[in-house]
Amino acid sequence: MYDVVIRNGLIVDGTGRPGRIADLAIAGGRIAKIGEVTEAGVEEIDANGHVVSPGFIDIHTHYDAQAFWDSTLSPSPLHGVTTVIGGNCGFTIAPLVAGDGPVDPKDADYLMRMLARVEGMPLESLQQGLPWDWRTTEEYFDRLDGTLMPNAGFLIGHSALRRVVMHEDATSREATTEEIAEMQRLLRAGLAAGGMGFSSTWSTSHNDHTGVPVPSRHASRDELVALCSVVREFPGTTLEFIPAVGQFGQETL
Ligand SMILES: [Zn+2]
Repeated sequence: MYDVVIRNGLIVDGTGRPGRIADLAIAGGRIAKIGEVTEAGVEEIDANGHVVSPGFIDIHTHYDAQAFWDSTLSPSPLHGVTTVIGGNCGFTIAPLVAGDGPVDPKDADYLMRMLARVEGMPLESLQQGLPWDWRTTEEYFDRLDGTLMPNAGFLIGHSALRRVVMHEDATSREATTEEIAEMQRLLRAGLAAGGMGFSSTWSTSHNDHTGVPVPSRHASRDELVALCSVVREFPGTTLEFIPAVGQFGQETL
């Protein structure tokens, strides 16, 4: 007897071949058989009229804040998504401080308002739905660890790194060599804590709540490359970057 048998579903296995109506049996947490399953399962599921497929991975989400008040990360699971990646486009809410000192409330407030603006989230939800009691990316991950229903991973966001290192200057000038080194250190710490990679944007559509380009849009090419280079120290991590919206120009290509 199998643990679970899902019967008469349209099996779409993710290999690209056409879907087919079949049964799917699970034993010991693994798919044991796909085809006609005559044996019974402890649990039987009638999937007639439904698709049976591997879970989808949504590589571009902004669940960084919602994760605190909605542990299901709705509506993604309703669409068959079983893994989400957050922290895209450079818009993370960690770290909140660069050094050992206290968090500058103005930096945390900036990152909160920027995220609310660029992703169209209600500011009140971000103010009331999050504890805002972490300092580092590692502490941010600790707050969410074991609380979420789908699998979730998060990138380390450029605009957050830039803001906590440069404060108000993050949206007005290029970074110094020392500031870039400090951003690299924070990125490295975030990746060591389990961050899935580095994210950034130069898209002209990304302005903060005051209408000014978000911090990462003030970065030089050298700063961007310096930060991207840290990712290679952590095998399996990735880069996410929005170079532009609309048609790509020669520079973007
Ligand atoms: Zn995005």
